[in-house]
Amino acid sequence: MATESSATTSGNSLHAEVVVLGAGPGGYTAAFRAADLGKRVVLIERYAALGGVCLNVGCIPSKALLHVAHVIHDAEESAPFGIRFAPPEIDLDKLRDWKGRIVKTLNTGLAGLAKQRQVTVVHGLGSFASDREIRVESPEGATTITFDHAIIAAGSTPVKIPGFPYDDPRLMDSTDALELKDVPTRLLIVGGGIIGLEMACFYHALGSKITVVELMDQLIPGCDPELVKPLAQRIQKQYENIFLKTKVSSIQSEEAGLRVAFEGEGAPASDLFDRVLVAVGRKPNGTAIGATSAGIQVDERGFIPVDDKQRTNVPHIFAIGDVVGNPMLAHKATHQGKVAAEVIAGHPSAFQALSIPSVAYTDPEVAWMGLSEAEAKAQGIEFEKAVFPWAASGRALGMGRREGLTKMISDKATKRLLGVGMVGPHAGDLIAEAMLALEMGADVEDIALTIHPHPTLSETFAFAAEMIEGSITDLYVKK
Ligand code: NAD
Repeated sequence: MATESSATTSGNSLHAEVVVLGAGPGGYTAAFRAADLGKRVVLIERYAALGGVCLNVGCIPSKALLHVAHVIHDAEESAPFGIRFAPPEIDLDKLRDWKGRIVKTLNTGLAGLAKQRQVTVVHGLGSFASDREIRVESPEGATTITFDHAIIAAGSTPVKIPGFPYDDPRLMDSTDALELKDVPTRLLIVGGGIIGLEMACFYHALGSKITVVELMDQLIPGCDPELVKPLAQRIQKQYENIFLKTKVSSIQSEEAGLRVAFEGEGAPASDLFDRVLVAVGRKPNGTAIGATSAGIQVDERGFIPVDDKQRTNVPHIFAIGDVVGNPMLAHKATHQGKVAAEVIAGHPSAFQALSIPSVAYTDPEVAWMGLSEAEAKAQGIEFEKAVFPWAASGRALGMGRREGLTKMISDKATKRLLGVGMVGPHAGDLIAEAMLALEMGADVEDIALTIHPHPTLSETFAFAAEMIEGSITDLYVKK
């Protein structure tokens, strides 16, 4: 079903100068940018609402619930300041409605933005019929869209571990968990990555006893262990159990709950949980869009290879976001979406970001960008390193949070910034400054000499640079 046409219509067929397959953050950004550059655009989305996983069942609703978790935790942890609150009364229906209203507001906003730009939105499941045609199936019938250029923004789906009883609603993926059907007494989270730990954070705040099972030897594998440590130490005290180097070997539905068996170094005896959330990664949707009918190359994992102009092996077909590779992050997709639209419009754009920041919106938040210490070592780069403890930040102490760190590494010869990691409240917001510094080619002197407002957590970024410069006075660093 099509709404708001700027594209050429004929019966159940449309012609687009640019067709975008998928209306997540990458897809709608690409569509809107292409329209702003004068193209007649058709945006295809299988669901009724625009915004994709991020807006509807990912980033946005999870951040709303994480805000609730922060409010609850802050209230609980204010006793040392001489302030005591009664335990919270949670109205789950109201909480669900509030989350839903945020999503709806943004959905409506996106539909409005599409309308203002005269982007034609076609709802239904799109699949390439050839390298010039996409067929969209919906309950109302099929629509054929011919195109000059296409941008694939088809995203990713949660990985499923084979053999688990997925027909049991107590076994959840991240979408199910965000529906907030109830607050399970005991919740098992399979996968100690970003999704698993964010979900653990708000279900714990709502009152669930949390167990996390992680295959690798640390939480958020791939992140600098020095940054993960303050988070791990905090949640180890809050959660029932965290098992590393462990995996779930089977899950069986029983009336009383889900019976889970474990294997691996830290494996406990089998146990019963009220609900289990599986968050063991996402896989790209590259094989689900009829790519071969258009001659588009898809690799064995389902990713679509592209060049730095986001072009696939078929020169007039582009791909962006989760479907082109890791990291699967909305802010990567939006930037790639703009590149694809601009290249199609004849601009000399390319995706040449120096880094894509990562953030776990846990409590504390963990954020990092650029090279990690391990990556710099592996690349044989001579670097200098500083770790500023937030225990020396008046602002962090005033928040009752002393566990944070700001870690910086810089090139020893040029003093250029190489990478930054932060752990602590608001680390996800603070990392943006490090991104700007990296993109602007800042060295540690630039950062140290930039006056940061006092007292803020942002100062910790400048303090880390001062540590490398040797000009820090807020700490005593032995020469
Ligand atoms: P992930 O890859 O970040 O984490 C999955 C975790 O599961 C890993 O730690 C992995 O070692 C573990 N694992 C894999 N198989 C396992 C098994 N059998 N038993 C136990 N543990 C196992 O994936 P995710 O957390 O599912 O997130 C998926 C994607 O979504 C990622 O690309 C992530 O970056 C993105 N995402 C980002 C954000 C954010 O930016 N804040 C939030 C949510 C999701």
